[in-house]
Amino acid sequence: METICPICNSLASYIVQCPTCHNKMEAQGAIEEYFDDYSPYLDREITEKLDGVAAEKCLHIFYCTECGRDKRIPIDKIIM
Ligand SMILES: [Zn+2]
Ligand SMILES: [Zn+2]
Repeated sequence: METICPICNSLASYIVQCPTCHNKMEAQGAIEEYFDDYSPYLDREITEKLDGVAAEKCLHIFYCTECGRDKRIPIDKIIM
């Protein structure tokens, strides 16, 4: 059994409302991808511990194109 993130695998899209201007926020890549820029040798498990997010969640950044605010939202992984 394998758990995957629906956003990383393009299975679902999440609509998140910006808390500041109520515009629609757009999903960006998973946080792990951002970490890769700075720490390519960190394995996934360590990265998830650093984020304080359980392994069953994938942390995504949602970005508001209207006011530039971003928000980290843990996405529940689904079982395939
Ligand atoms: Zn993801
Ligand atoms: Zn906004």
